[in-house]
Amino acid sequence: MDPVIALVGRPNVGKSTLFNQLTRTRDALVADFPGLTRDRQYGRGRVGRRPYVVIDTGGLGEPDDGVYHGMQSQPQRALDEADLVLFLTDARTGVTPGDEALVAELRRRGRPVQLVVNKIDGLDADVAGADFHSLGLGEPMMIAAAHGRGVRRLMDHVLDTLLPAEEDTLDQAELPPEEAEAEDAIRVAVVGRPNVGKSTLVNRLLGEERVLVYDMPGTTRDSIFIPFERDGQAYTLIDTAGVRRRRRVREAVEKFSVVKTLQAVEAAHVVIMVVDARENVSEQDAHLIGHVLEAGRGLVLAVNKWDGLTPDERDDVRRGLDVKLGFLDFARPHFISALHGSGVGLLLDAVREVHAAAGRDLETPRLNEILADAVEAHQPPLVRGRRIKLRYAHQGGRNPPTIVIHGNQTAALPDTYRRYLTNRFRRELNLWGTPIALEFRTGQ
Ligand code: GDP
Ligand code: GDP
Repeated sequence: MDPVIALVGRPNVGKSTLFNQLTRTRDALVADFPGLTRDRQYGRGRVGRRPYVVIDTGGLGEPDDGVYHGMQSQPQRALDEADLVLFLTDARTGVTPGDEALVAELRRRGRPVQLVVNKIDGLDADVAGADFHSLGLGEPMMIAAAHGRGVRRLMDHVLDTLLPAEEDTLDQAELPPEEAEAEDAIRVAVVGRPNVGKSTLVNRLLGEERVLVYDMPGTTRDSIFIPFERDGQAYTLIDTAGVRRRRRVREAVEKFSVVKTLQAVEAAHVVIMVVDARENVSEQDAHLIGHVLEAGRGLVLAVNKWDGLTPDERDDVRRGLDVKLGFLDFARPHFISALHGSGVGLLLDAVREVHAAAGRDLETPRLNEILADAVEAHQPPLVRGRRIKLRYAHQGGRNPPTIVIHGNQTAALPDTYRRYLTNRFRRELNLWGTPIALEFRTGQ
C-alpha cells in the first residue's frame, strides 16, 4: 500500500504549492479528460519508483460543495490515516503562536512528524532554520516549494523512513495470501460517497453465502478481501465499507474514508463506482473517478437506486450524467437497483469485459495501422516550422493498456492531439471501460 503523507500547517505557509509539486503527474490526466477538475486535497505522486498519496489538510474542513456535510471530522480522519505528517512552516515569518498550537495538536495525535521550513529562497538556510528548533520537532528540512528546491531531497528522506528500499516490489506486497485468492480472480473495488448504496450492492453481490474474509497485511488501514465466484469467474471483492468485517458486525458501518477508497482503487483491477440516481453527481464523485483513471484502473459506473423513478425522472438523471460526467465517454453507465437486484448481474458482466479490455494484448501491426490512419486523416501540427512526426507504435504494457509511440518533437504534441489519438485507438481497438495510456518517445 502506498504511504499516506499529510501536509499540515498554518494558512499561507505553502501547503498547496507543495501539494502541486508533489502531485504534478496528475496534470497529464486532467489534460486527457477535459471537464475533470483536479482534486485539490487528495493526490498521488511518485519519487523514482516509489508512489505515495498526499493529502493537503489545508483545504479540508472548509465548507465546500456540501459533500462533506455531516462529516466535519474529515481533517482529523485524514490526519489519523496518515503514515507521516509534513508540518510546514514559513521561513519568512519564523515560528508563530499558530505553529505552536498546531504542534501541540499533532503531539496529541501522535503521528510521526517531519518538520519542513518553506520559502528559504533568497535566505540563508542555516539562519532561517535555526529558529525552528524551538518547536521540538527535530531537524527541519529546508525547501522552497515554489521553486521545487529541496522537494526531491525531502521526499527521498521521508520515503526512506516509510518504505525501506527493498520494498520496491510493492505489487507483491499488495497481494493477499496466495491460497485465498484464485490466480485469475478479478479484484473489484466498490467505491462511492456515503449512502449511495455500496454496502447494499456488496451484500447483493455476495449473497447470503458464508464468505471467507481476510485482512490485507502490510498496512495499518486493513482492507478486507472477499473472494467469491459467479458464472465460473473468480472475483475478489475489496470491501471499503467494512460490510463484512467479521469481528465488527455490530459496529456501525465505518465512516467514509477517501484514503481507504484510494487504497482500494489501487489494489483493484476494476472499480465499480456507485452514484445515487436521486442525488446530483458532485465534484466529489468526479474526483473519485479521476483517482480511478489516474491509477489506470478499469471503471464500471453504476447508477444506483434506479427503482421507483418515473420515466421523466430517469431522463433527467441521464441528462445530468451527460453534463457532469461527459468526459467519461468511454464508460457506459449501468442503471441498477442494489436493493432489488435489478441490473446487478449485468454489472459483473461489465466488470469482466472491462478487465478483459484492460489486459488485452495489442498486436503491433494493428497499432501501427491505426496510428498511420490517424496521422493520415489528421496530421499533427507544425512546431517551429517542422511537422511533428509519429513514426511507429507498440504496446508498452497492460492494465491499463499502454501504447508507446515513437517519433520526433513528441513533447510538443498538443493535448487535443493526444486525445484525438486516444479516442482513435479506443474506437478501433474496442477498448471500453479502461483508461488508455499513451507514452511518447522521441528518438533518431
Ligand atoms: P497554503 O495556504 O499553505 O496552501 O499556502 P500556498 O501554497 O497558497 O502559498 C501561500 C503563498 O506563499 C503563495 O503566495 C505562494 O506563492 C507563496 N509561496 C509558496 N511557496 C513559496 C516559496 O517556496 N517561496 C516563496 N517565496 N513563496 C512561496
Ligand atoms: P453506503 O453508505 O454507500 O454503503 O450505502 P448503503 O448500502 O448503506 O445504502 C444507503 C441507503 O440507501 C440505505 O437505506 C439503503 O437501503 C438504500 N439503498 C441502497 N440501494 C438502494 C436501491 O437500489 N434503491 C433504493 N431505493 N434504496 C437503496
